Amino acid sequence: MATPQDLLFLARQDDDVHNAIRGEEKRQEEGLELIPSENYVSKTVREAVGSILTNKYSEGYPGKRYYGGQEFTDEVEELARERAKKLFNCKYANVQPHAGAPANIATYFALLEPGDTVLGMDLSHGGHLTHGHPVTYITKIFNFVRYKMKDTETGEIDYDEMREVAKKEKPKILLAGFSAYSRELDYQKMADIAREVGALAIMDAAHIAGLIAGGAHKNPFDYGFDVILTTTHKTLRGPRGGMILTREDKEIAQKIDKSVFPGLQGGPLMHHIAGKAVAFGEALHPSFKNYAHQIIDNAQAMAEVFDREEVRMLGGGTSNHLILADITSFGIDGHVAETVLDEVGITLNKNVIADDSNPPMKPSGIRFGTPAITTRGFTEKECARVAELMVETLRNHDDEEVKKKVHKEIRALAAKFPIPDKHF
Ligand SMILES: *Cc1c(COP(=O)(O)O)cnc(C)c1O
Repeated sequence: MATPQDLLFLARQDDDVHNAIRGEEKRQEEGLELIPSENYVSKTVREAVGSILTNKYSEGYPGKRYYGGQEFTDEVEELARERAKKLFNCKYANVQPHAGAPANIATYFALLEPGDTVLGMDLSHGGHLTHGHPVTYITKIFNFVRYKMKDTETGEIDYDEMREVAKKEKPKILLAGFSAYSRELDYQKMADIAREVGALAIMDAAHIAGLIAGGAHKNPFDYGFDVILTTTHKTLRGPRGGMILTREDKEIAQKIDKSVFPGLQGGPLMHHIAGKAVAFGEALHPSFKNYAHQIIDNAQAMAEVFDREEVRMLGGGTSNHLILADITSFGIDGHVAETVLDEVGITLNKNVIADDSNPPMKPSGIRFGTPAITTRGFTEKECARVAELMVETLRNHDDEEVKKKVHKEIRALAAKFPIPDKHF
């Protein structure tokens, strides 16, 4: 087991909250986390996020604040910005977005006028809620149109259709990025299409920022993308938060700064920004490259098992950290799959698949990935075993004996690979 958290004051002064946190600590330690957007931060990051920086108001940016007493907060935010720029090889960084969704919204408001069009990935083909899902308010302000996969068996995007739609709809932003897609995008083609129609090329790298930072995936900036926005808590393995990076255009960077504050947010979460600085420092360490590559090797080891067991995967497998599997061949829906896997100690989520004929609460797929278990030290061998146990569980979803046996093995695996305090 990792060192228990220091919760001395909580333990003495607030039993209720203390017990809930201890319960979650135990759940994280004893189960296997396969939700591809989750990870384990180092104790170093947690110390920064748990620090007295939470006491400070720092509206504005380093050197230009609305309140006094900023000598140390300026230092913290500068460290985060400088490290972010180095990680992603760009000129400007805004590290203040409270999370990914606010980073999306701030980017849209910075670079669009109401009524302007964004061309993004179809939501059932892997795009994210923040890319114009009808349930979000942002769709009342901007117009979202879609591109899709050409072939759900290979995952290849239909770039010809993308160009056609772009020519017809004249988007101001061509948006790359996804949360349920297992292949890599062709940034060169997308940047070319964006130039052709006068759109900005923007990447929402929320899921794969860590793969890019670790050199395991291409960097969209190398292909002329203008902006990358991201979360900091998924593969990047930092505290919960968001960030917006601008490759080189000062005017764009200034619009983004104004949009984040005062346009959208109030005071920045300085304790989280300190946590981001620490996490970016960790991601700059040479060992992070190994981590990023291992995430992908591990996901591919799981995909091999699914392939062998003839479970359909969208995109035919994976080139990144996640797998989207169609589990209807087991005679169950994604909701049931999520529930039975939870019973054996595996956490993942149900997910719609491309052009799903089932409703969103009982979709045809499950989505899972390797960022968190790779942080625990799993290699291809353990990941392949987990995939085998998943298939066995799904195949025997109403056999209590099988589930008991699988749960025991999962608990033993978790015990053998405790959540680490340090990442290098
Ligand atoms: C997770 C995610 C977001 C939203 O991030 P939050 O921190 O949950 O607000 C935005 N875009 C994409 C592509 C994501 O995967």
